[in-house]
Amino acid sequence: METGKHKMDQLLTEEQKQFRQSVRSFVEKEVIPAAQEMDERGEFPRALFQRCAANGYFALRYPESVGGMDADFLTYCLMMEEIARGSLSLGAVVAMQTLMGTDLVFRFGTDEHRQRLLAPALRGEKIGAIAMTEPDFGSDLGGITTRAIQKDGGWEIHGRKMWITSATVADFFTVAAKTDPEAGFKGIDFFLVEKERAGARVGRKIEKMGVRASETSELILEHVQVPAENMLGKQGAGFKSLGDILCQIRVMTGALALGLGEAALKSSIKYSNERVQSGQTIANYQAIAHKIAEMGTRLEAARALVYQAAKDIDAGAKDVKLASMTKLFATEVANFIADECTRIHGSYGFAMEYDAQRYYRDARFLLYGGGTSEVLRNVISKAMGVPESRK
Ligand SMILES: Cc1cc2nc3c(=O)[nH]c(=O)nc-3n(C[C@H](O)[C@H](O)[C@H](O)COP(=O)(O)OP(=O)(O)OC[C@H]3O[C@@H](n4cnc5c(N)ncnc54)[C@H](O)[C@@H]3O)c2cc1C
Repeated sequence: METGKHKMDQLLTEEQKQFRQSVRSFVEKEVIPAAQEMDERGEFPRALFQRCAANGYFALRYPESVGGMDADFLTYCLMMEEIARGSLSLGAVVAMQTLMGTDLVFRFGTDEHRQRLLAPALRGEKIGAIAMTEPDFGSDLGGITTRAIQKDGGWEIHGRKMWITSATVADFFTVAAKTDPEAGFKGIDFFLVEKERAGARVGRKIEKMGVRASETSELILEHVQVPAENMLGKQGAGFKSLGDILCQIRVMTGALALGLGEAALKSSIKYSNERVQSGQTIANYQAIAHKIAEMGTRLEAARALVYQAAKDIDAGAKDVKLASMTKLFATEVANFIADECTRIHGSYGFAMEYDAQRYYRDARFLLYGGGTSEVLRNVISKAMGVPESRK
């Protein structure tokens, strides 16, 4: 059962549609059949990770000069949408490997870093992660207490990170630390920390309600020494470096939301056409049909935002307001659709053997990284000329 042709496909080139079809075939053959078991096991999906690497997915958005495939950002978003249709856990893992966990090494690493870490990561031979959040500082990144102090010509990093995707399996981390504790956001810099550096260790794994096959854990950094060249970017420019990829992170998260929303909508249509109550399928009830109409309408609007925002990024724009609106709207839509999906399934929406409950649990993941909905509303309203309030 298909959810219908998407009007927004008119924004895509033939090449983009063909690429999407190839990812879709892979997801239908290999990801969807594995999704439930992956969720139950709650372990990093190594076999599918390697299959994604072999398909060139990790290299897709990087330039050929570093072993990439030089694809545009919209093509990358189409890939993320398709992967999330199959499993948001895998989507979270691929997002980390292709964007947050590798991008600052690409932009600011030395040639040696690129050869030793980035190029193998694009082939799936090494795993990258990003460590910004701390136990006491999430949205308020400017408050982080992990310190980087200049020592012996390099840097000594000390602190504790929380909620780090893929940390349990990562070979290298992009770590946010304060070089100037008085300067708030502007005192943050990023450092490359390889896992074998003395003093770096992964702490407890966090048991989660959703995206369970994307492992998340603490990262402990005890007086870790790194050489000067492991500072990613010029000192004092860390906040700007993050800002440069934040639009991409937000729009990409919107693409993940489209995939999850599409899967939940498809399953809702299928179920409502099959489930019979009082002698008719539940799709015959206007209450159910209207739910489906509402889900489809919101999803199509979210798709328009994601594709347009991705096209803008390809055109060189850095529209923080549009990227924030995209993430806010698409992720809230995905959560709305997943909720309606469980309702349409009645009690079966509560049963572990149906996918509806997994969509519902996984959708929550979309609401945190790249800014919570509340923080995004702050960003959007500020960009619209509403003064920041501190109630
Ligand atoms: C599965 C998962 C994977 C993650 N992976 C990573 C990772 O790989 N690397 C990493 O660094 N982090 C990661 N994170 C952390 C994530 O980025 C943070 O959870 C997020 O930034 C929110 O921070 P917090 O959870 O500390 O919430 P808090 O900042 O404590 O927020 C709590 C509540 O207060 C609200 N709030 C906070 N500030 C404001 C404000 N200014 N205005 C209005 N409301 C506000 C929030 O919206 C929220 O409702 C991950 C999180 C999850 C759940």
